[in-house]
Amino acid sequence: MHDSVSISARAPRIGVLAMQGAFAEHVRALDECGAEALQVRTLDQLDSCEAIVLPGGESTAIRKALHRCDLLEPLRERIASGMPAFGTCAGMIVLADAAPDGAPPCFGLLDVDVERNGWGRQVNSAEVMVSYAGGDESVAVFIRAPRITRVGEGVDVVARISVGDAQGEPVAVQQGHLLAAAFHPELTTDRTLHVRFVDLAREQALQHS
Ligand code: GLN
Repeated sequence: MHDSVSISARAPRIGVLAMQGAFAEHVRALDECGAEALQVRTLDQLDSCEAIVLPGGESTAIRKALHRCDLLEPLRERIASGMPAFGTCAGMIVLADAAPDGAPPCFGLLDVDVERNGWGRQVNSAEVMVSYAGGDESVAVFIRAPRITRVGEGVDVVARISVGDAQGEPVAVQQGHLLAAAFHPELTTDRTLHVRFVDLAREQALQHS
């Protein structure tokens, strides 16, 4: 039964870290995009997943909650060894290399630096047009979003701000099995990034089957 057709048609099992933030919206978005999504609060749940979404919220609180649930190191370890991960807003901060404000919420896996709450008044909490690498444009919701201040060599920019003073600034990136966005794609109907992540998870599942 394990021919390539049946494997590739299978919905990848994607966990959504359910410590705080808009995890229910991520679960819905992933289901819409053909994944089998589940909330993750325990190591058993994490181990039943092929990929993981780290939602927004407050990155220091997420880190503390992960520590409390004994998930901090296991999660970091699984992502470091190839589990596809999609971090949005605070989730991107957790995946990142360094936050220049000195706060330590970062796993150091995604080769970008981020500045927490880095948009100040410019794009503090707002709906802003972003453009994807393929040329599509969409409205994105930013809520006290991190600003990407450095993009490492192996990191592709997936979306940039397309209007105003910040035009051209990167707001979504991908580094191999890691996808991250400064905004909240789960709060709009644009499914570009969720589709991309479900595809990534499916490819990874195929390679390991
Ligand atoms: N400002 C939050 C932090 O630094 C992130 C905000 C969000 O996820 N919407 O963790």
